[in-house]
Amino acid sequence: MTERPRLVVVGAGPAGLAGALAAAARGIGVTLVDAADQAGGQFYRQPAAALGARRPQALHHQWRAWERLRDGLDRHRATGSITHLTDHHVWCVERKPGSGGVTVHALHGPAQEEGVAVRADAVLLATGGYERVLPFPGWTLPGVVTAGGAQAMLKGGLVLPGRTAVVAGTGPLLLPVATGLAAAGARVAALVESADPAAVPRRMAALAARPDKLAEGAGYAARLLRHGVRTVLRHTVVEAHGTERLTAVTVAALDRGGRTGPGGSLLIPCDTLAVGHGMLPHTDLAETLGCTLSGTGVRVDDEQRTDVPGVWAAGETTGIGGAALALAEGHIAGRSIAARLRGAPADPRRWAAAARARTRLRHFYAALDAVCEPPAGWAEQVTDDTLVCRCEEVTAGEVRTAAGTLGACDPRSVKLLTRAGMGWCQGRMCAPAVAALTGCPPLPAGRRPFARPVPLGVLAALPEPD
Ligand SMILES: Cc1cc2nc3c(=O)[nH]c(=O)nc-3n(C[C@H](O)[C@H](O)[C@H](O)COP(=O)(O)OP(=O)(O)OC[C@H]3O[C@@H](n4cnc5c(N)ncnc54)[C@H](O)[C@@H]3O)c2cc1C
Repeated sequence: MTERPRLVVVGAGPAGLAGALAAAARGIGVTLVDAADQAGGQFYRQPAAALGARRPQALHHQWRAWERLRDGLDRHRATGSITHLTDHHVWCVERKPGSGGVTVHALHGPAQEEGVAVRADAVLLATGGYERVLPFPGWTLPGVVTAGGAQAMLKGGLVLPGRTAVVAGTGPLLLPVATGLAAAGARVAALVESADPAAVPRRMAALAARPDKLAEGAGYAARLLRHGVRTVLRHTVVEAHGTERLTAVTVAALDRGGRTGPGGSLLIPCDTLAVGHGMLPHTDLAETLGCTLSGTGVRVDDEQRTDVPGVWAAGETTGIGGAALALAEGHIAGRSIAARLRGAPADPRRWAAAARARTRLRHFYAALDAVCEPPAGWAEQVTDDTLVCRCEEVTAGEVRTAAGTLGACDPRSVKLLTRAGMGWCQGRMCAPAVAALTGCPPLPAGRRPFARPVPLGVLAALPEPD
């Protein structure tokens, strides 16, 4: 009997789940690997089982879609066509040139010190995105969290980050965060969005192509009204106040050029600031494999193939675009992989509906992205004593000195001179800020062989390369 082709999917969010289910349904043996202890990714993040949540759907929308994914995963796990490795943190994907196979290296166990290697014929990278973090005076005070972090506390831990919250920044994520916090009992003192509503009419054609998304936005607006949440547009947070912890934030009006102008400012008392400035794709595994990027995401063709043979990518790793787009891309990738691994020609007519949804959603999110850019002048608000790299405690003043007085003209030199980006997160958090403060383009992650810190013992136990 010939063995069935094998696929490793990295990431069990909407894209990875859709890809795994589509491939498994077509006879591929799938290993689904994820760092989290449950499937769902960011969008369908589930409360820890020990919390015994009776109605987890109360914190979610599009619950039906999640039930279909979850039930499909359970069915395939029962038949053995999908193996789900939870709590496995992938640090590298290795491709053996010529052999066509891949080896996915992960860390497992409570201290993440147990090395695990999974071999397969192809890999689907569905590692999602992460929040763009921009510093401002006071952003390291206890009580200041990212918008997604506040939501993760609520969805995953069933806890509120505080009693009185301000939700601020830019982008669609602010809406579910503000309404979620309010519905769970927090007083949301304000939702502060920096985008300029005047930019919307210019993008109306692309936005109106997804009336369901506009209706979703209207639903959030109605919920904000119901909870009495004040919405402040074209304003940005310029300072978080407090000594031991957050007590208030100052938000200032932005002019048409995205700079704080004479429009005045507001002081809003609060104990929580949930702040988000959009998201960035996770591309480190893809870059290490040599995949080309397009903008900030991994470049893929119509079948979701990267330009490295045997490597597909889907969902927010290819560009930020929401859960529905991740589902469509994952489905297309899974079908393409199944066809290609079986040596059959891939037939795009079979996924025409998903491809149409993908086109419309990509246009929609490109338009939304253009409206929800961080304010042009945000870096000018960052005072010299503001921490930029939290891991290594490097201030904006030190970064500016490295670029100005010491003449560093790329992020690597800034890192060598200041240690910004040398800590645990390896610059994932501070790279956009360092780039904006110095005017240098961010360093591609591809220069790092490891997507996360790896114990020496795990490296020493690896077999000798062929
Ligand atoms: C914090 C946060 C909150 C969000 N909240 C909302 C919301 O309320 N409403 C909304 O419409 N959209 C929200 N989004 C966006 C939405 O979650 C995404 O559009 C959608 O989940 C994208 O699906 P995906 O499968 O591409 O990635 P994700 O859902 O992000 O899934 C990626 C998965 O890959 C895993 N992973 C990543 N790297 C590795 C690795 N090296 N090793 C092992 N596993 C790995 C992660 O654990 C994760 O489970 C949020 C995004 C974030 C980051």
